[in-house]
Amino acid sequence: MLKDQLQEVEKRIQAACDRAGRKREEVTLIAVSKTKPVETLQEAYDLGVRIFGENKVQELTAKYEALPKDIHWHMIGHLQTNKVKYIIDKAELIHSVDSLKLAETIEKEAAKHDLIADILVEVNVAEEESKFGMKMEEVIPFVEKVSAFPHVRVRGLMTIAPFVEDPEENRSIFADLHKLYIDIKKKNHDNDTVSVLSMGMTNDYEVAIEEGATMVRVGTGIFGARNYAV
Ligand SMILES: *Cc1c(COP(=O)(O)O)cnc(C)c1O
Repeated sequence: MLKDQLQEVEKRIQAACDRAGRKREEVTLIAVSKTKPVETLQEAYDLGVRIFGENKVQELTAKYEALPKDIHWHMIGHLQTNKVKYIIDKAELIHSVDSLKLAETIEKEAAKHDLIADILVEVNVAEEESKFGMKMEEVIPFVEKVSAFPHVRVRGLMTIAPFVEDPEENRSIFADLHKLYIDIKKKNHDNDTVSVLSMGMTNDYEVAIEEGATMVRVGTGIFGARNYAV
């Protein structure tokens, strides 16, 4: 079943790429495995999945310890500053940086490990009260400040679009974030550093790809519904 769902997602990603005239290699699929047991992740791993997204520090570190070391772990959930130290050498990309305080903490912890942390700026494009993330107009000043940090590299932008019935409703949000992403790429002389636009989840990843996403974060579409009661 996991195999079928994975194939279905893969097929839809390809179709969205085709519609948008994009190459399949331009889009990276993150398998969002939050709440799923290690055995399920192992099953996905055996089917070839190597990039997993988790939204809780403790869950990410526990799964990191339990699973093969060639997995790439992405931290996609809200991150508290006091927990940065647990994931700094485990998460390949932190998608959810939304404050200077958090960026400063990442800088400090990355320096301790003598590594450069790759981050995305989380943007609350729709300015929903219930969501984390910066406002659009805060992003460029933030990126400029963080560019002075020796151990932090801003790789791009991330958003969690509103939950909507019809994914078409989110198209303009994805298009707006894509525009901002292009602006930031232009400002950045080293064009390769800013290369990630993380947007689109199970409900709307096809529209996100059509609007320029380079990473889509798909949970339910691959693993089925989550059971938070367990
Ligand atoms: C849970 C989660 C996802 C995946 O959501 P699905 O709708 O199950 O695909 C993507 N991004 C973030 C930040 C999440 O927390």
